[in-house]
Amino acid sequence: MKKKKIALLGSTGSIGTQALDVVRKNSDLFEIEVLTAHSNSELLKKQAIEFRPNAVVISNEEKYEALAKDLWNEGIKTYTGDEALSQVVQMDDVDLVLTALVGYAGLKPTMAAIEAKKSIALANKETLVVAGELITKLANKNRVPILPVDSEHSAIFQCLSGEMHNKIEKIYLTASGGPFRGWTSEALKNVTKEQALKHPNWEMGAKITIDSATLMNKGLEVIEAKWLFDLKSNQIDVIVHPQSIIHSIVQFEDGSMKAQMGLPDMKLPIQYAMAYPNRIKSDFPRFNFLDYPNLTFEKADTKTFKNLSLAYLALDEGGTMACALNAANEITNAAFLSKKISFLDIAAINEIVMKASTFIKSPTISDYVACDQEARDRANQFCK
Ligand code: NAD
Ligand code: MG
Repeated sequence: MKKKKIALLGSTGSIGTQALDVVRKNSDLFEIEVLTAHSNSELLKKQAIEFRPNAVVISNEEKYEALAKDLWNEGIKTYTGDEALSQVVQMDDVDLVLTALVGYAGLKPTMAAIEAKKSIALANKETLVVAGELITKLANKNRVPILPVDSEHSAIFQCLSGEMHNKIEKIYLTASGGPFRGWTSEALKNVTKEQALKHPNWEMGAKITIDSATLMNKGLEVIEAKWLFDLKSNQIDVIVHPQSIIHSIVQFEDGSMKAQMGLPDMKLPIQYAMAYPNRIKSDFPRFNFLDYPNLTFEKADTKTFKNLSLAYLALDEGGTMACALNAANEITNAAFLSKKISFLDIAAINEIVMKASTFIKSPTISDYVACDQEARDRANQFCK
């Protein structure tokens, strides 16, 4: 079988390094064509020397010169700048683009990859939150599959295998509830960054870990699910399942439900997307029922964790609303991490900024760019 050639955007992050573990274990199936990262040039260099890609991009221009020199000596081409990301994904040899970079920065390279008819393995959920309508239309037009990497969406995607002609009645996205499940607003007032970064079940990058603590992550996933599976908001439910064993559930029109389960390990959804439509043998630890005699379920507390209800609001409004929410949240999330605002300020500012943003019902790409900038500027004013 021909090896799949992969462009890995965000190779130094949590998803990126786990994707490289999958490649390392399956070097007969996958080959790395492109590696990109924002600023961790030391790790990027090590990865490039190990995986010998055709091109490397470091987006932080200050890190470019030293890295380019080191990799030149290895015979590996290095680029920098915003445009470079959109160019390397279009290279002829690339079969699959794995978008493991974080935030709005994923939007343009994902569009460029779809325009070049490259299959997308999508970890970067923010892209679908910002511009889901535009991205899915573009993907349909170019007949490009968007294969979910997010564990909940991978679960739904796996449950839908063989069900092409059967309608979905609804889906249940499971949520761990994060480190503050069951806490009151009063108790949340003074929580620290260190407390918020302690996720009970998953080890992830800082941004998504904070998003999980505020339930913004589940809100972003509700919007992501709408676009991936063409659903209405009343077909998408969230259920808190603290053990994170059931990764999500599809309910069909006859009432039958299919769930996908396993121990929480992102390498499984990553490799499922990379190898799709095949499954590859793995030595990941297996689930043992007797270690988990109780799988439990609760309602999500959307009053205390308001970000989840903001996401449903954005979904119902459509247009640029989710783009504004995402931009506000990228700013407030970072401001909380740099200790400029409190935990509860995150959702409070997100709400004000989202509702104050100029609303466009049928946006073009430049409308999204303007909306993102306007929301960032406004959110920054509140985070000073
Ligand atoms: P991370 O912070 O660990 O890594 C992010 C990567 O993106 C790094 O390689 C970094 O260099 C790169 N990057 C950051 N800013 C950039 C910019 N402005 N331009 C270009 N590259 C940039 O993040 P992560 O946890 O691996 O998450 C990556 C994406 O996957 C996010 O969208 C996240 O929501 C999604 N996701 C992550 C997990 C997980 O378990 N970590 C699970 C599901 C979905
Ligand atoms: Mg997820």
